[in-house]
Amino acid sequence: MKKRILNIFTVIMLLLVITSCSVNLSTDGALGSEHKELRIHFIDVGQADCILIELPTDEEVLIDAGNREDAGVIMNYLNELDIEDIEYFILTHPHEDHIGSAPDVLSYYDVDKIYMPDVSSDSQIYKKTILAIQNEDAELIKAKAGTSIIDSGNLSFEVLAPNSMWYSETNEYSLVTRLVYGDTSFLFTGDAESVSELEMVKAGYEINSDLLKVGHHGGETSTSQVFLDAVTPKYAVISVGKGNSYGHPHNKTLSRLNAIDANVYRTDELGSITVSSDGSHIKIDETAKPYIPQPSEEKNANKTKYIGNINSLKFHYPDCSSVSNMKDTNKKLFKNRADAINQGFEPCSICEP
Ligand SMILES: [Zn+2]
Ligand SMILES: [Zn+2]
Repeated sequence: MKKRILNIFTVIMLLLVITSCSVNLSTDGALGSEHKELRIHFIDVGQADCILIELPTDEEVLIDAGNREDAGVIMNYLNELDIEDIEYFILTHPHEDHIGSAPDVLSYYDVDKIYMPDVSSDSQIYKKTILAIQNEDAELIKAKAGTSIIDSGNLSFEVLAPNSMWYSETNEYSLVTRLVYGDTSFLFTGDAESVSELEMVKAGYEINSDLLKVGHHGGETSTSQVFLDAVTPKYAVISVGKGNSYGHPHNKTLSRLNAIDANVYRTDELGSITVSSDGSHIKIDETAKPYIPQPSEEKNANKTKYIGNINSLKFHYPDCSSVSNMKDTNKKLFKNRADAINQGFEPCSICEP
């Protein structure tokens, strides 16, 4: 009996300790996973897509990886959140504005599973991505409608498209995924256009969702009426670059979204946008401002990740000015300082890593 009382006492003490830790975390504005929150970050990568999802299971999903030049922005964003591994990396389709920084992400982070549609490309960036996947030794899954990524209790993440083997447009091969957490749901469409949208509606999938990542940066040939009528999103996020040459988002798309009373959030106006869900309610961070990497921040001085130049044999912090001038092909990434030194690299005298 005494022992039991002692046990109950221990449990209460433990709970108190855990609670006080949580309070500390939330006052920091840190990860916020203490409330088993789902967090979705639409990272501002200009005219491209990159979406980070922090699952309530403490696992990470990355959907797409911006253009080639976005590697710094993406890595800074992930590093600020202390993310070291990505459990699920979804590459919606092989266009450069979706896989551009995938090789960097793959060499910099531990990636477990990669999902891609069964379509290839002749582009250099696609070849580089495939090579990086082979080097990372991650599991590559050629996904299509019906592929289940996560299915556990109140969390599910499944693939709703592509539904066909062949399309005339690469965009139509986009992996479309639907994430459900409790009573809240999110639809990520890559660059899927009206052909794939109609297939999803016809296939009879549950596609009704609280939030829609608007297809193809708000282009006219996506977000068709029949699709919108089935999704009926309360929130719509458009990942799009300011003053882009495509005229995205298209006025017709915006008026279709307006007609169904969706609240529209655009990365060209708000910068990165964070959305969270506790399983019952969705919160949108409307005050989101463009994400500007701040190299001088003290935090970066403690970063343990480095980029080496295979020509100069110097290694740098990712935000060192020399890194921005470095050719991608000359870069070698290190997860720690000892690795760099063991491989014959010397610290840069500017950033002093
Ligand atoms: Zn595309
Ligand atoms: Zn795109």
